[in-house]
Amino acid sequence: MTRSCVVCDTPTKKTCTGCSRQSYCSHQCQAQDWIRHIIECDTPGREITTADRLAAAIFGNNEDWCYNEELNIDFGFWKAGSQTNTRMLGAVYIDLFREMGVKPRTVHKWRIEGRLYAEMLATYRKSGRDSGPNFDWLCEHPHVFDPKHQEIPETMRDISERAKLEAWRFIGGPESDTIQDLIKKSESWSQNKIMCFHFYVNMFIAGGPFVVVPEFWLAFGYCVFPDELALPARKLYKALVTKCSFDEFVVLSQSPELIAPIWYLKAWVLRQGDLPEPVILIPYGFANCRDRLELNHLMRFYCKLFKDQEISPLDLHSAAENDGIFDYLIKTLRLKIGKPERLFLERVLKTHNRFIFPKNADNETQWQYLHLIIHVFFFHHLFTTYLPGATLRLNLRWD
Ligand SMILES: [Zn+2]
Ligand SMILES: [Zn+2]
Repeated sequence: MTRSCVVCDTPTKKTCTGCSRQSYCSHQCQAQDWIRHIIECDTPGREITTADRLAAAIFGNNEDWCYNEELNIDFGFWKAGSQTNTRMLGAVYIDLFREMGVKPRTVHKWRIEGRLYAEMLATYRKSGRDSGPNFDWLCEHPHVFDPKHQEIPETMRDISERAKLEAWRFIGGPESDTIQDLIKKSESWSQNKIMCFHFYVNMFIAGGPFVVVPEFWLAFGYCVFPDELALPARKLYKALVTKCSFDEFVVLSQSPELIAPIWYLKAWVLRQGDLPEPVILIPYGFANCRDRLELNHLMRFYCKLFKDQEISPLDLHSAAENDGIFDYLIKTLRLKIGKPERLFLERVLKTHNRFIFPKNADNETQWQYLHLIIHVFFFHHLFTTYLPGATLRLNLRWD
């Protein structure tokens, strides 16, 4: 297969022999890109250092360095303080690698030997660049590179681990769990849950996210406040996490279109409102009701479950995903139900969700499939039942 060289766009069949993934037309192009590709190649040929990562981020024009804790510590970003200082520090490293052509290997050696700051100043002077804002900034901020702070990185790692465990215990994790236990247990978590957990950790360390970690700052609505610190949001979240469980927080944090259908069901049955979006009716058995009376009856039944039984919506939803709502009610909840009611529930709660939801589908996928199915269903009925002039009545049986 012919692809194009990632450096110069020339069509080529040659790829990097280390990984066979990256296409290059020539050795020159490969050599030119190596500073960036080395960190992602399967055969880098030597141990990858944080200097390699920093250089790769600069040459790849991405700002990944903000998220790499080790790199942050090794190259002083965490000590830079303000956003402006972080940006200036980045600019200094861009000068160093890009403009003055220093190799990551050299930079790594300087850092290990505690000479990074002195060598950077010397390199600026040698290349005649010692009269610009970047150089001036470097001269004014020696503490960012101060070797006396060498012990602090360890401490910072400790602080982060301690905050993780603190957050873990706060959300109900066992007192005896170590950081390894936590890592293991969180492996099966959804992306969103992991993000919420990091948000909690963030609160324990810094009282909440800052704009330097935009992922949280945006996702949790800090961005709507004119002030970067978003003090009102800080106060609200602080109060909120003491009042709700972590699982509830995870649900709250989701954007509306990603909230699982079950929460819409709960909202609907609690307010006993008009018909919700048709898609809500499908996964929980309403589609099997013969008329509005049956539908209202089932709605009130669910309402009682949420109100009187304090049923776990997420458990109910996973029962629905496996078409086992009825079994869940009888076997797990041990609900005492009279015979007519039992027959009714047994009939209407026979769902076909396993044919609708792909296995382990996330909320977004579930919504997509529900919308798809309602379209198929709608057009089927439009052309067979609801001919012009016919009275529109609710008949959601779809067998
Ligand atoms: Zn090329
Ligand atoms: Zn490669």
